[in-house]
Amino acid sequence: MNVAKQLYQLQEVDLELESKERALSRIASQIGESQAVVRAQTELNSERQRLEELERQQHSTEWEIDDLTAKLTIAEDNLYSGRIKNPKELTSLQTEVDGLKARRDQLEDKALETMDQVELATASVATKSGELKTLEAEWRSQQQQLSADMEQLKTILSELKHKRQLLLDKIDSRAAEFYHELKKQKGTAVAKVEQGICGGCRISLSTTELQQARTGSPVQCSSCGRVLFLA
Ligand SMILES: [Zn+2]
Repeated sequence: MNVAKQLYQLQEVDLELESKERALSRIASQIGESQAVVRAQTELNSERQRLEELERQQHSTEWEIDDLTAKLTIAEDNLYSGRIKNPKELTSLQTEVDGLKARRDQLEDKALETMDQVELATASVATKSGELKTLEAEWRSQQQQLSADMEQLKTILSELKHKRQLLLDKIDSRAAEFYHELKKQKGTAVAKVEQGICGGCRISLSTTELQQARTGSPVQCSSCGRVLFLA
């Protein structure tokens, strides 16, 4: 029975398991809310609020203009009706008309300005809304991919665990215990020997070590202590 080979196979499965487990936790950390989507949503909401505020301003200015126009119509009617003869009263009425007109001009300028701002904000809301939709679609498809990858990894992991158990069942329990102890100490318990060199510590092995390793019995590297495996 080539114990070194068995332990080497166990190590191969363990390394594969560890790598897949790392991949799984990487994926798990990417599943969930997207910061970019949340940010885009927040920006869109505040832009929408700004647009609503501008529209409110616009309507209130328009109502004010309507109100002034009504007052102006009455004042001008009075002024040109010929009913008022008192020069002092006429002058005061004229002043009122001028004042109303000046105020209306001012408000009309303001209304135009607000209208421009409303247009810009409307366009900005449309842009931001489009950006959000794109980000959400990307996020959804990314999440779907991640979930699929996760499922696939879980399947692979369960197969590997099964494979590991099958290997372990065939390995002498003392050898397995030794393997686990060495693994704990060194990270990897078995070193592959290639061209007479220990793959664990890169030292050239003695002829005796190589001869022993060739038998398949678990021989440790005299330098790093790992079990030597000669393919
Ligand atoms: Zn070594």
